[in-house]
Amino acid sequence: MRELNESIIPLEQVPAEGLALQGGIPPRRLDRLREATAGLPEAVAIDLRLEPRNDVYILSGRVTGQVALQCEYCRAHFDHPLAAELFLTVEPDPEREVQPDPAQKGEVWVLTQSDNQVEAPEGRLDLVGALEDEWLLGLPQSPICDPACRGLCPVCGADRNEAECGCSRPRRENPFAILAQLKQDS
Ligand SMILES: [Zn+2]
Ligand SMILES: [Zn+2]
Repeated sequence: MRELNESIIPLEQVPAEGLALQGGIPPRRLDRLREATAGLPEAVAIDLRLEPRNDVYILSGRVTGQVALQCEYCRAHFDHPLAAELFLTVEPDPEREVQPDPAQKGEVWVLTQSDNQVEAPEGRLDLVGALEDEWLLGLPQSPICDPACRGLCPVCGADRNEAECGCSRPRRENPFAILAQLKQDS
């Protein structure tokens, strides 16, 4: 898979029939996603199309990639797939309602979370930045490796998915006590 060349795309250069955007985005170009997760095992493959539609542009297509996350219960790393389908509206003239995000100093685009809209001030789309933002928004708040994860033993710390450690349990099972213990340990 070749590496994606495009980074900033001047929208006026997008032909009427659309622009194909294909290739891999290596982990080194996705700093924020790397920092927000336990890392990226490999490049994220994209097969997207950017097309003019009325006053805006539509960025849509398929994504194949995953990030490593750490399970909140057992602390093991596990692979989490990025959403496979992508559909974003690119707004080339966001002047009317630009909301600069102080957390993104120096970034020229702002993502509106509610309607999958990406802003491209002065008609320039930061493609990799927009994709990275979309993937960051899609990360689970509480990563769990498996709905049946049994977590770590609050007494000895053993991974109870692997073996029963045999520690005696509190007389009354209280899931909140276990969560509190996990928090103290972290
Ligand atoms: Zn787990
Ligand atoms: Zn134990």
